[in-house]
Amino acid sequence: MKEEIKAYNNVLELIGNTPLIKLNKVTEGLEGNFYAKVEAFNPGHSTKDRIALYIIEEAEKRGILKPGDTIIETTSGNTGFSIAMVSIIKGYDCVLAVSSKSSRDKIDMLRSMGAKVYVCPAHVSADDERSYYNVAKRLHEETKGSVYINQYFNELNVDAHYKSTGPEIWEQTNGKITHLVACSGTGGTISGTARFLKEKNPNIRVLGVDAYGSVLKKYHETKEFDNDEIYPYRIEGLGKNLIPTATDFDVIDEFIKVTDEESAHVTREIAKKEGLFVGYTSGATIQAVRQYAEKGEFDKDSNVIIIFPDHGSRYMSKVFSDDWMNEQGFFDSVNVEEAQKIEF
Ligand code: PMP
Repeated sequence: MKEEIKAYNNVLELIGNTPLIKLNKVTEGLEGNFYAKVEAFNPGHSTKDRIALYIIEEAEKRGILKPGDTIIETTSGNTGFSIAMVSIIKGYDCVLAVSSKSSRDKIDMLRSMGAKVYVCPAHVSADDERSYYNVAKRLHEETKGSVYINQYFNELNVDAHYKSTGPEIWEQTNGKITHLVACSGTGGTISGTARFLKEKNPNIRVLGVDAYGSVLKKYHETKEFDNDEIYPYRIEGLGKNLIPTATDFDVIDEFIKVTDEESAHVTREIAKKEGLFVGYTSGATIQAVRQYAEKGEFDKDSNVIIIFPDHGSRYMSKVFSDDWMNEQGFFDSVNVEEAQKIEF
């Protein structure tokens, strides 16, 4: 009799069920037990695989999508890559309207994954007809059988995490989770995961991570949109200059802000100390954990689950480049030689 071949039918079957990995060094000295949910283990190397697959399959169930139809989104980041990957397997055209600020590498990567990429001028305002928002909207209106993912304003983004990330964490921790720490960009990850976990146990503390230069923390506290909070910052994917409807502020207990510089150093530290090559926002979460710990958030019985959103390979020319770190002035306050020896 022929031996059964143990194989996945395609790459999409590997989405989700990412591991929890105990952190042993980067949280040393803090009270509590710390575990990272490492989303880089998704086949598209980020948590966005979950929402791309879920939103596209929901559209199929609702009869909106047929093979040969088109999926549209406005991102050159993780979501674009995940949509491109799902589109290949399912036979859709993937159209991404991206800003001319996007790096050549990112655009090449998306095109390598079969996406049609429209590069739109970065210097125009969001309501200009040439902005990537409006190009995507127009393409959606003009293309019959198209779906606009619109992740910042799509409730299915939240549902994807309610149905996968939340249950996985509950099961992996045997319900022993006491704290969830996650970045907020669209807010889909933290909102969907927290909504599920709080239904299981309302005492679980949900701690958000925001960036200096973003409005989320202030909005959470005051319900007012404060323009003065907004200024440019480096971390991509964390924080926002608008209020996404995909963020459920009611399931988030608190936000804390982290700096570009500290998050960059911590990202490099995670690689060197834990052997985990993860992205810039993963560094931001550990920086936030340290700040929350300083405020007395955790004790020895705390089981803290920290979401690491993506893989380090997307940041080779940023946080993992010494030149880039130098250009940002991130080495100014440390002795570089000492830092190279000890920390890295
Ligand atoms: N980290 C990275 C690298 C991201 O790309 C994103 C998504 N914008 C996030 C964190 C935040 O996830 P979410 O959009 O689900 O809030």
